Amino acid sequence: MRWTVLGYQSPYPGAGGATPGYLLESEDRRILIDCGSGVLSQLDRYCRPYELDAVVLSHLHHDHIADFFVLQYAVRLARQMGHRTRPLTVYAPAAPEKWARLLTYHDAIDWRPIEEHRETFVGSLHLSFHPTDHPIPCYAVLTDNGRSRILYGADAGPRTDWRRMVRSPDLFVCEATYLKRNAPSHPTGHLSAEQAAVAAEQIGAKRLLLTHLFPEYTSAEVEHEARPHFSGTLYVAGIGLSIRLG
Ligand SMILES: [Zn+2]
Repeated sequence: MRWTVLGYQSPYPGAGGATPGYLLESEDRRILIDCGSGVLSQLDRYCRPYELDAVVLSHLHHDHIADFFVLQYAVRLARQMGHRTRPLTVYAPAAPEKWARLLTYHDAIDWRPIEEHRETFVGSLHLSFHPTDHPIPCYAVLTDNGRSRILYGADAGPRTDWRRMVRSPDLFVCEATYLKRNAPSHPTGHLSAEQAAVAAEQIGAKRLLLTHLFPEYTSAEVEHEARPHFSGTLYVAGIGLSIRLG
């Protein structure tokens, strides 16, 4: 399996950047996890957007779905031009309904509500979806290929129960929305870099990738706040960062 960062910033992309989106590749499948603003132009470095096998949208906030609506055009046109025969399968929540209604588009998309599909196989990859602490329905994604496990934490506040999802994942991709200098006194719906590191240590993650970063942060300051709390291998997200697992 290979996990590649296509976008990692929030709530907006910095210059040349992108909000969250990740390419998950196995021997036989390509899955796009979240599709934020700027993600499609990064994806095109690895494959054509219409060559994806599936998309997972963790939740329907715009920083995670903005480019999905452009991806719909890419898939529809590919079908008209004969580059693709099947609709693109998309796993995404059914709420808020106002946005869920827009997930299907002509014959381009086969939408499967996560509420009804809490686990699935995409090729040989087993995916399961686990609710996080966020103001709207939001799901962490656990991927297992039989040899390695990746937990993508999506957007998640401090009340998220990581230990119910997994123990000792090979990679934990966790949001680090806040640093000490700008964390609210009672953060809800998001974590700080320190809280992400503590959570990763609690579940025994072997590797931690910190993401969902404010565009003005430097990776050095994110690493500085997380490092003392996590004993495994620590990465700070950047576009094109790729982590290969067995
Ligand atoms: Zn977000």
